[in-house]
Amino acid sequence: MNRDLRKTIIAGNWKMNKTPAKSKLLIDEIIPLCSGGGCEVVLCVPFTSLATAVDAVKSTDIKIGAQNVHFEASGAYTGEISAAMLKEVGAGYVIIGHSERRQYFGETDETVNKRTKAALSAGIIPIVCVGEHLWEREADITEEVVSKQIKLAFAGIDAAGAAKTVVAYEPVWAIGTGKTATSEQAQDACKLIRDRLAALYGKDTADSITIQYGGSMNAANAAELLAKEDVDGGLIGGASLKSEDFGVIIKAAMI
Ligand code: PEP
Repeated sequence: MNRDLRKTIIAGNWKMNKTPAKSKLLIDEIIPLCSGGGCEVVLCVPFTSLATAVDAVKSTDIKIGAQNVHFEASGAYTGEISAAMLKEVGAGYVIIGHSERRQYFGETDETVNKRTKAALSAGIIPIVCVGEHLWEREADITEEVVSKQIKLAFAGIDAAGAAKTVVAYEPVWAIGTGKTATSEQAQDACKLIRDRLAALYGKDTADSITIQYGGSMNAANAAELLAKEDVDGGLIGGASLKSEDFGVIIKAAMI
């Protein structure tokens, strides 16, 4: 891990799980697992749990994140949440362009770009998700697909903004399926992303950007994935809801 160049970040994506009361119980289990430093731990909870979560971690180094943000500042967007709203409640991170949002909620590369800009403007760190479908990997177009997603997500964002952004490489075929990318596949894709970022912003900026792997990361495979040079952490779904497993992943990232 290149801790001297960039931050290692382990982020849990709780998806649509946990009421506020249940969030508090899980956070209380996670807090003692985070001592020791060496990596940033982020819990991306449902909107309704944000305030509870922020309060629960207030005397720790754990950061709280949301799972989506609207790109407009305010107005007639029923059901949406703005970046300023997230900021005020205490969210430090927000996941943007998760494959489930692309698949079920019409998220596009264009809206990913707009949401990323909105988060950056509010001082919230975007975790921008990219990754190919199984058919795209089988058609040997992973490089084209991921390169295009990166180019469009970062369109109009300057180097200072890019340096504040986290990228999560999440092959769609590995999310929630129990199928993990091999550590070589994860390394190759994260390196590809860093090369694309270097082409856009220069090597120094690209070297400073945290690039996570996500897709069925768990207690058994985390150490091998996190040992790869360009894998700077993980975005973890299922295993982040089990404190024991999440604790093992955090420890693997601290080594
Ligand atoms: C995710 O939700 O971003 C994810 C990677 O899920 P899982 O770890 O369950 O595959």
